Amino acid sequence: MAGVIRRLDETVVNRIAAGEVIQRPANAVKEMIENCLDAKSTSIQVTVKDGGLKLLQIQDNGTGIRKEDMEIVCERFTTSKLQTFADLSAISTYGFRGEALASISHVAHVTITTKTADAKCAYRANYSDGKLKGPPKPCAGNQGTQILVEDLFYNVSTRRKALKSPSDEYSRIVEVVSRYAIHNSGKSFSVKKQGETVADVRTLPNASVVDNIRGVFGNAVSRELIEVGCEDLKLAYKMKGYISNANYSVKKCLLILFINHRLVESSALKKAIETVYAAYLPKNTHPFLYLSLEIAPQNVDVNVHPTKHEVHFLHEDSVIESIQKHIESKLLGSNSSRTYFTQTLLPGLSVSGGSEVKSSGTTAESGERVYAHQMVRTDCRAQKLDAFLQPKEKPPPDPEPAGPGSMEATTKTVEPHDVEMDETDDADLLQALDEQEAEVPKDDKESSVSTHDVQRKRPRKEEQQQEKEEEDQTAADTFKRRVIKLNSIKDLRTEITDNTHKGLQEMLQNHSFVGCVNPQWTLIQHHTKLYLLNTSKLSQELFYQILIYDFGNFGVLRLSTPAPIYELAMLALDSEESGWTEEDGPKEGLAQYIVDFLKKKAEMLEDYFSMEIDQEGNLIGLPLLLDKYTPIMEGLPMFILRLATEVNWDSEKECFRDFCKECSMFYSIRKQYILEAEPGEEQDAELNSWRWKVEHVIFKAFRTLFSPPKHLSEDGTVLQIANLPDLYKVFERC
Ligand code: ADP
Ligand code: MG
Repeated sequence: MAGVIRRLDETVVNRIAAGEVIQRPANAVKEMIENCLDAKSTSIQVTVKDGGLKLLQIQDNGTGIRKEDMEIVCERFTTSKLQTFADLSAISTYGFRGEALASISHVAHVTITTKTADAKCAYRANYSDGKLKGPPKPCAGNQGTQILVEDLFYNVSTRRKALKSPSDEYSRIVEVVSRYAIHNSGKSFSVKKQGETVADVRTLPNASVVDNIRGVFGNAVSRELIEVGCEDLKLAYKMKGYISNANYSVKKCLLILFINHRLVESSALKKAIETVYAAYLPKNTHPFLYLSLEIAPQNVDVNVHPTKHEVHFLHEDSVIESIQKHIESKLLGSNSSRTYFTQTLLPGLSVSGGSEVKSSGTTAESGERVYAHQMVRTDCRAQKLDAFLQPKEKPPPDPEPAGPGSMEATTKTVEPHDVEMDETDDADLLQALDEQEAEVPKDDKESSVSTHDVQRKRPRKEEQQQEKEEEDQTAADTFKRRVIKLNSIKDLRTEITDNTHKGLQEMLQNHSFVGCVNPQWTLIQHHTKLYLLNTSKLSQELFYQILIYDFGNFGVLRLSTPAPIYELAMLALDSEESGWTEEDGPKEGLAQYIVDFLKKKAEMLEDYFSMEIDQEGNLIGLPLLLDKYTPIMEGLPMFILRLATEVNWDSEKECFRDFCKECSMFYSIRKQYILEAEPGEEQDAELNSWRWKVEHVIFKAFRTLFSPPKHLSEDGTVLQIANLPDLYKVFERC
């Protein structure tokens, strides 16, 4: 008996098709964000309940939808962006299929509230199965559109069951919003759970791409970024973005790729980039990249299925190769101080195919250059020239403990969070992260938090995570930065950004390191000018900014022997610098007061600054501010004393500011850092140590991590001492 072929019910067809287009809440969010951007919005706010399954709300301030169009916006193949087939090749907006809203309305209850600039009021309408449920009703509202999607997949139980936990869906949504936010700096984005006052990701309209990367992925990445950009008329493509340098690596490659402003994946490009980095990064570690690629629209396959993130384009191989070359040249150029070693250690020897490795500013694009990834390895023991220079790149052995205890770094620094769109193995960890997030106080928005509140104890989830990491290597990939929601800290961050001297910042970003005069003064070159910089002042400011930016996210430098605060305080009071007089009362009493006082603050100090004080009043840990950097212990007693005398502990913001100021003074490179070595004297380990730190830690951080405040350009911190093109050549050889 032959089966009867029956035409499927139309709504069933639509529902199936919709399930193809919208597979999970994050897909819907992506489509709707693109609609907002198409509508020229500059502010996009996403609110989510139950991972988007209960509610998804996207509010924008774009052009809005005309009332007469409201009837058809949710029908399939209705779009305001495309009229003829020829338009397809010249499309510059994201959407063109008119499929997204229609699809969503087949699998959810959709409510649109919208107002155009010239409409007298806003209108609201409900949709289901692609159809308007009743005439749009006038209502109050600002210009722009709010799309409310409720009970996603209410009528597709299989799809609903296939989805993972709400917290997993939520992190996918956060991921999509964050990436669009990074790509669209200049526009503000936010994403939060319904009922929360504070967003999990928020970007500001005046933030730069790097600011946004820092906000989402943390300082560890943002301070190691190199700006890239290239274009090729023949291949008809343009690329720009930021890539991590050779000093940074993670366990999993993170490539945020936009092609023609659409978030996509290209495994071919990813693989090609990994090959380049393989020559520079330790084995089994990977880079971070944000790349924005613009390709002539007619060269991109516009017929890709909406859910297909993987894209292909014309001349793909050539474009990828061209990008590869550019990235490699930037990686080579980024470490300009390495050049000087190449020249001094290997006189007359040239690197890679006869062309010399040049410092960043002067990298000449030579078509003939052979890049590392193109070289054929003939002997596995053969190394790159850099390998012979390694000792200079590594920190020297730690100097003997100078003060009451040497240190070891316990890295608790969290790695950037990376969730692949279609991976399923990290649900547990995400759950854990979600719980962790849940513990961040919700009421921090109200800036009236008293210092008492600031001391509230929070279990250190990182510690549990660290144990988990040891059990489970793969888990290490998904660490997440703790989000700080204190207004005081946000204010202090804004103060820093608002007060940046752009010229100085550019100079520090692109300088060539010349050499240290002494711990306090360093020579750098920028363009044809030679500058003398006050390392003490600059490094103090740097550490202050790190303390503010990485607040609550520090690793720990653990003292190998606990340092009794009482004795530290006594040492400080004994010194002339403390200015102690008999009128201040007996030193012993003061020292004991300091011990008791800091013990009371111990929980907060540990939680926010990784400064650890034990029950007995010993200092056992200090914040790890920069990798491979430990402060000189001579400064510790004064630091302890000043914490008690110079910090205003009564006001939250002042308290954090003062603490960070004191701490940064302690960490800064100072005169007493090292006694001057006699000329001709053999350089000892410690001398090497500060020189190494200044060049490879402090000045490296200036390239990416630093927003020099304006006053530094006027107070003698930066002195231009020469502008003779001939002179700097001499210094280059120092
Ligand atoms: P497409 O984006 O491919 O045109 P969609 O289904 O995503 O199709 O959207 C249908 C239409 O609805 C769009 O062409 C646009 O006119 C309108 N629209 C959707 N979202 C917005 C928005 N946020 N602001 C203004 N118009 C919108
Ligand atoms: Mg669209």
